[in-house]
Amino acid sequence: MQQISVIGSGTMGRGIAQVAALGGYRVMVYDVEQDIVDEALAAIRRSIEQGVQRGKTTAEAAAQASQALRPTLSLVEAATADLVIEAAPEQLELKRQIFTKLDAAARPETIFASNTSSLSINVLAAASGRPDRFLGLHFFNPAHIMRLVEIIGGDDTSEETMATATAFVQRIGKEPVFCQDTPAFIVNRVARPFYGEAFRLLGEGAANVADIDRLLKSVGFRMGPFELIDLIGCDVNFAVTQQVYEAYFHEPRYRPHPIQRRMVDSGRLGRKTGRGFYKYESS
Ligand code: NAD
Repeated sequence: MQQISVIGSGTMGRGIAQVAALGGYRVMVYDVEQDIVDEALAAIRRSIEQGVQRGKTTAEAAAQASQALRPTLSLVEAATADLVIEAAPEQLELKRQIFTKLDAAARPETIFASNTSSLSINVLAAASGRPDRFLGLHFFNPAHIMRLVEIIGGDDTSEETMATATAFVQRIGKEPVFCQDTPAFIVNRVARPFYGEAFRLLGEGAANVADIDRLLKSVGFRMGPFELIDLIGCDVNFAVTQQVYEAYFHEPRYRPHPIQRRMVDSGRLGRKTGRGFYKYESS
């Protein structure tokens, strides 16, 4: 494999494109508007440069990685890659449409992967027209730093596809963990009470945002729940909560909290909009 495409250049797509470029792959970055994809490429290149300043990347590797990145507004062009990793918004219909379009344009041997946090890999695989060459590659945020990648095979994913994807994950310096196609896989499932209880505490007025975050950090968490939700994106966190709640047929412990909807409807999505549970400088 030499050519990777990343579909969606938001929070996750940027990080995935960055690690793939640093891993020596040529990377096409697709998004729906020129401004978005231009801004994404500039942000990825800045992040690569920061790696040089911190001594994590050599200047030569950084220059090569920056040159390996290419923007595109064409799904047909993005489909020419050997591996296409989708990191578009967490909406089933949207992702289905993307995979159906990609399938029509891609070579038969191209592997498709979704970075979905909570949607079923089998359901997405059905829309891809190539369930044997389809799998979940679930990166964590920030994708250029977090080492874990969940690899989720669907019922029809071939062993060859799993092996090729695993080799890719290892080549970009990540730690693969294998999961079944269950709602939210392993990490997001385990993390549900971390967010859910924090929302309940906040909703009941037991403590404020900063105190809840401080308490959780005092017992060893690197980030508090609200800091983490701001990093993830309140919209993404809400979408995942809703998916898990639906997937478990309204199991009460997975029920979303009204605060989540309020944050999303008022546009306070977290770091990416400059305002979430905390305020952020535009840079
Ligand atoms: P985001 O909102 O930051 O980025 C989504 C990007 O997709 C945007 O750049 C948007 O312009 C683009 N987009 C919109 N419509 C599109 C279309 N029709 N085709 C292609 N791209 C389109 O979202 P994100 O946080 O990067 O999440 C992307 C995926 O990664 C979701 O499935 C999410 O569940 C998953 N994920 C997110 C996190 C996280 O912490 N944010 C972690 C792991 C996985």
